[in-house]
Amino acid sequence: MSSTIIRIAEHFSCNDAFFMFSLIYSCFTVQESREEYDTCQQPVHNWLATSYTTMVILRLTHLLGVVLDATSISSTLLLSINQKGLALQVTAIFSWFVAFPFFLCTTIAGTFMVLEVQRYTPSCWPSQAHLVSALAWLIVSYTWLYVNARIGFHMCSIERRRRQATRDLVVIQDNDTRSRWGELSNQSDYLSGDGLTPQEIASLPHKVYASNCAGTNHCFHSGECSICISDFAIGDNVRQLPSCGHTFHRSCIDLWLLRCASCPLCKCSLREERCMV
Ligand SMILES: [Zn+2]
Ligand SMILES: [Zn+2]
Repeated sequence: MSSTIIRIAEHFSCNDAFFMFSLIYSCFTVQESREEYDTCQQPVHNWLATSYTTMVILRLTHLLGVVLDATSISSTLLLSINQKGLALQVTAIFSWFVAFPFFLCTTIAGTFMVLEVQRYTPSCWPSQAHLVSALAWLIVSYTWLYVNARIGFHMCSIERRRRQATRDLVVIQDNDTRSRWGELSNQSDYLSGDGLTPQEIASLPHKVYASNCAGTNHCFHSGECSICISDFAIGDNVRQLPSCGHTFHRSCIDLWLLRCASCPLCKCSLREERCMV
């Protein structure tokens, strides 16, 4: 526990220090004037204190996530709720599903409170500076919410692609892919791209490498797979891409085609009828 606090302190930048100090100072300023706020139509001082505190908690939670996720870049916490480790998962879920919605609701409630106060008891603000700082805080809050909402949509998109990729990997895996690449459904970092569907990949022609292919066009007998950089061996399943004629192990090219619908060697698109190579 103490080591975690020390590591949070190590990640605490000058900007963080200034930001935290400003929020805590603003909290004290509101508390000092709470008797003057009592004449307001709405308890805007309670909203301000809650909003400042929530932002401090959000920032500290993010710093805790960065410290717990010592192996990754600092933005990883924001980009996925599928974190490695229970503590990191709890931190990410708390950020996205507790603190963020709470701050959103608080900000909307604060907006209505300020509007009500301005309408019925505009003279209750302790000073003009208090009103200006409350309006400025609303602008900061909505900007922060907008930026984080964009990040949230991006996170959902990544999550959707990751789940789609896992489903696709399960469909195309067989003993051949397992022997070369291991259990594909464990590849949690694999994202689907603009590639072919498992059904489209399965419809591509494939052959078996053999030492003697005389009289048959169902086998293949020369070359090297440029994905795994190894020669074809007898019994290997290979695919010759119909658009360009380049050949790869089936277990190598199938994984590639899930992410990209073009030949890894000449970039010829498999959606083309025929490429000039
Ligand atoms: Zn290969
Ligand atoms: Zn090619």
